[in-house]
Amino acid sequence: PLPAVVILGRPNVGKSTLFNRLIGKRLALVDDQPGVTRDRREGEAQLFDLKFRIVDTAGLEEAEAESLSGRMRAQTEAALEGAAAALFVVDARAGLTEGDRHFARWLRQQGRVPIVLVANKAEGVVGTEGAMEAYALGLGDPVLFSAEHGEGLADLFEALQPIL
Ligand code: GDP
Ligand code: MG
Repeated sequence: PLPAVVILGRPNVGKSTLFNRLIGKRLALVDDQPGVTRDRREGEAQLFDLKFRIVDTAGLEEAEAESLSGRMRAQTEAALEGAAAALFVVDARAGLTEGDRHFARWLRQQGRVPIVLVANKAEGVVGTEGAMEAYALGLGDPVLFSAEHGEGLADLFEALQPIL
């Protein structure tokens, strides 16, 4: 079976757009409203010559990120179960939230699944500058990405290829 890569992050950062970009079909529901993806969606992703299973998760609620307990933690752990890697997506335009920081801290500590940090919405000067904030999460160099414009695919490949 193909290795699984799970997309994680708070609502509205562009997880489903990234999912769609990687599977090349519009299967996941994308909407301006946060938390629209209710269920996990899976598809087969192709990134240059790299093939993997990609899993889109629902956005994790900000309130629950405060304690990183309960449903959020259970959902994340379930999503990470058996995964080869996770893409932790942040929004380069909106800036980091307290929820992003809590979540990043937890991801750093879990230590089981390699994390690739993706600064999405990084197109243009505003996005590039905004993405620099993501270095502070302590999850390594962010992959500057634009799911909407299809930018950063080569950098995402470079980050995932050694892991998968
Ligand atoms: P999710 O809740 O994390 O799954 O986020 P969605 O994929 O539903 O996207 C939320 C919003 O961000 C939508 O309005 C998308 O069109 C927008 N979006 C997604 N990717 C990008 C991007 O790369 N750049 C910009 N500017 N907007 C994006
Ligand atoms: Mg979604």
